[in-house]
Amino acid sequence: MPTFNCPTCQKPVDWSPAATWRPFCSERCRLIDLGAWISEQRSIPGEQEPGPEADAHDHEADGSRRH
Ligand SMILES: [Zn+2]
Repeated sequence: MPTFNCPTCQKPVDWSPAATWRPFCSERCRLIDLGAWISEQRSIPGEQEPGPEADAHDHEADGSRRH
């Protein structure tokens, strides 16, 4: 029986039809890995930086003050 290591907990698991959650050892490890992947995607810096908008807002406020 070939085995593999669960990517989440590194536990060796039999690669069999009974291993429902392969390449993970369990649903829990699958969800942990999925959650880690999603949080990595969300934590990319610069994706949601409000720089240009905040800058435009500042200019707008400045202009109205001069007006
Ligand atoms: Zn695992």
